[in-house]
Amino acid sequence: MMIDLHAHSRASDGTQGPADVLASAAEAGLDVVALTDHDTTSGWDEAAAAVARTGVVLVRGTEISCHHAGVSIHLLSYLHDPQEPGLRAEMDRSRDSRLHRAETMVARLGADLPLTWEDVLEQVDGDATVGRPHIADALVAKGLAADRGEAFATVLSTRSPYFVGHYAPDAVEAVRLVRAAGGVPVFAHPLAVMRGRVVGDDVVEEMVDAGLLGLEVHHRDHDEAAVRHLEELAASLDLLVTGSSDYHGAGKENRLGERTTSPAVLEAVEAHGRLGLVRP
Ligand code: AMP
Ligand code: ZN
Ligand code: FE
Ligand code: FE
Repeated sequence: MMIDLHAHSRASDGTQGPADVLASAAEAGLDVVALTDHDTTSGWDEAAAAVARTGVVLVRGTEISCHHAGVSIHLLSYLHDPQEPGLRAEMDRSRDSRLHRAETMVARLGADLPLTWEDVLEQVDGDATVGRPHIADALVAKGLAADRGEAFATVLSTRSPYFVGHYAPDAVEAVRLVRAAGGVPVFAHPLAVMRGRVVGDDVVEEMVDAGLLGLEVHHRDHDEAAVRHLEELAASLDLLVTGSSDYHGAGKENRLGERTTSPAVLEAVEAHGRLGLVRP
């Protein structure tokens, strides 16, 4: 069984539509894939409709943007009720703030480069969650960057004068909201140091007290020492261990199935989730 619990579509900053992500999952030999777009569940229906055709089991999820003590944290939620008002309100607030933050970044960039907000909107599908990758795609389309990676290494970096942050809920509170919505909260890439500052084990423990159920231990942004540390931490705190690709289509090098999760962990995720898996 090949199980990959972290993938993005055009509902956020992936480059393929949700149905195409499932088709690519089938091609990659996956049995199960989770669709986990940033701060949205808008890709779930299209992905679910592609399950019968592709034969790939779907785990409905979201990657929730959070902060704690000034550090950016990504929290995966699986199988939550998307209508639960508490979680929904925070995700809506993040998405709204992301939109305004992107407009501000583009206004700053536009003062120095031939880039407009319309250029960015051309890269965004419908009501997709807007992120820096869409600004990167606009820069590429205008010939101002070679690819997303170059844009992130330069003008879109957190250290760039063009960078603007956005609202995100506190990670401990987000764990509570995910559990209240019947979701299974898993800390995404906890030690991905290239993304920026990371939190210490004390914060993981606070999140566990709030109901955290797992750690995404196996992820390409973790070196061997990070994986070992997280495996030990997960064992000592009795947490589920997941492994995933964080696929973004052509937007990142991450390939579907490059890291995987065990069937036993998937069973535990399903047992804790309010929603079921979508099976062919
Ligand atoms: P944002 O959430 O808008 O601040 O943008 C961060 C998102 O951009 C991350 O969640 C990644 O999905 C993506 N990202 C970060 N670094 C890169 C990179 N070097 N190349 C492509 N995508 C990236
Ligand atoms: Zn992303
Ligand atoms: Fe992430
Ligand atoms: Fe992700």
